[in-house]
Amino acid sequence: MAEQKMDVNALVARFPLIKKLQSGEYVFWVNDQLSTKKQTIPAVSMEMIREAEQKLQRFSSYIKVAFPITKFSDGLIESDLKEIPHMKKLIEGRRGFAIPGTLMLKCDHALPIAGSIKARGGIYEVLSYAENLALAAGRISKTEDYAKFASDDMRAFFSDYKIAVGSTGNLGLSIGMIGAKLGFQVTVHMSVEAKKWKKDLLRANGVTVVEHKTDYTEAVRQGRLAAQKDDTCHFIDDENSIDLFLGYGVAGLRLEQQLKQAKVKVDAEHPLFVYLPCGVGGGPGGVAYSLKQIYGEHVHIFFGEPMQSPCMLLGMMTGLHDEISVSDIGLTNKTEADGLAVGRPSRFVGTLMESVLSGCYTVDDSFLFRSLKGMYETENIFMEPSAHAGVYGPIELMMQGVTYLQEHNLQDKLENATHIIWSTGGDLVPQELRQQYLQTEI
Ligand SMILES: *Cc1c(COP(=O)(O)O)cnc(C)c1O
Repeated sequence: MAEQKMDVNALVARFPLIKKLQSGEYVFWVNDQLSTKKQTIPAVSMEMIREAEQKLQRFSSYIKVAFPITKFSDGLIESDLKEIPHMKKLIEGRRGFAIPGTLMLKCDHALPIAGSIKARGGIYEVLSYAENLALAAGRISKTEDYAKFASDDMRAFFSDYKIAVGSTGNLGLSIGMIGAKLGFQVTVHMSVEAKKWKKDLLRANGVTVVEHKTDYTEAVRQGRLAAQKDDTCHFIDDENSIDLFLGYGVAGLRLEQQLKQAKVKVDAEHPLFVYLPCGVGGGPGGVAYSLKQIYGEHVHIFFGEPMQSPCMLLGMMTGLHDEISVSDIGLTNKTEADGLAVGRPSRFVGTLMESVLSGCYTVDDSFLFRSLKGMYETENIFMEPSAHAGVYGPIELMMQGVTYLQEHNLQDKLENATHIIWSTGGDLVPQELRQQYLQTEI
C-alpha cells in the first residue's frame, strides 16, 4: 500500500460524493458498473460454495455433539428468516412514507455459537483447516462420522497446531469458540474498538487475546506478521480469505430454501432487495455473491456503512479498493458500530462486488441506536448497533434510490417486493450492555 500522499482534491473533482461523505451527509452511491462489468475469472464459484455447504453437512454430527444447542437444527448453524411488520409500521410512521412490499429480517444475530454472521465464515474456515489436517494425517475419511472430531484423541492432535486472526471482535469470537473447542491454540489480535466482554469470553474459553491500541487494519497486519513467523500457525485473513468468503456464501443457498419454504417469489415481477451491514466486506460480500448467482437481475443488494467508516463505498466508487482509506478523506473511522469500524476495504471482495452490488449507503450512529430501541420495542428483537446499518437500507432506497428504481423498472413492482434486512449480530451481548444500548440517545 502506497504511503505517498493521495491527491484528495483531484479525487473529489472526479467523485463529488466524497464531499458529501466529508460533510457528514447521508450518501447513497449506485454502482454503475453493475450491468456492464463482466466477471473475469473470479476467484470463487458457485460450485465452490456448494462444496462448502457439503463440508458443513459432513461436520454437522460433530457440531451437534460439540454445541448441543444446534441439535434443533441438526448440527447446522442457521438462523430464521422472519417478517417484521411492527418494525415496518414504526419506520413508516416515523418517516411519513410507505415501504411498499414485505419487510423481513434474516436473523444472523441469533446464529448459534458466535451470535453473529461471523459464525458462518469463521467457523467454516476453522472446520476446513481441521479437516485438511485430519485428512492429511489419515485421521479421518470423508465418509466417516465426523463426531470423531470431538474425541480427546483428535483434540490432542490439534493441540499441536495454532490459529491466529485479527478482528474488531466478532470474527475473533467465532474463531476462538470453535478453534478452542477443537483443541487448537488460538490467538486473537483485537483492534482498539473490540468490546471488553468479547475478550473476557474468549479468555474464559482458553483463547489468547492480544489487545492492540490500533485500528482493525493494523491489528490484522500485526496478527499476520506474528503468524508468518510460525509454520504451525494458520492465519485467518479477514481481508483475503477465500474460505471465509465461501462460508458466508453458503447463506445464499440456505436463504433460497427458506424463501421457497415461506412461498416468497423472486422473479421479474417480484424483486428481492437485500441490505447488509459492511465492514471489511467478507461477510456481506459472500452472501451477496451467492445471492446474485442464484437470483441474477431479480435481486438488488445494498451495503450499509457508518458515516465515518464508508470504506467499501469509497474503495468501489474510486476503484482504488484497499489503496484508499477513509482517513485519506478526513474521516475518523470512529463509530459505535464496532463490527463495521474498518477504514480500508478488502480488495478481493471489492473487486468481486463490481458485478454484484447495486450500491452502498451511509448511516449515522444516532440512527443505529434509535433503530435498536425501536426493533426491541416493536419486535422484541435485540440486535447490536452494527446490525442496524441494514435497517436503514429500505428507508434510504425510498428516499434516495428513486433513480435506481426507475432505471431498473422497479417502480410499479414494489408492492410485490421483498426487502430482507440482514441482521448481523447481537445475541451474545451481555444484559448490562443491552440496557446501556437501549438507553443510548445520540
Ligand atoms: C463483521 C461484522 C459485519 C461486517 O462483516 P465484514 O465481513 O467485516 O464486512 C457486520 N455486522 C457485524 C455485527 C459484524 O460483526
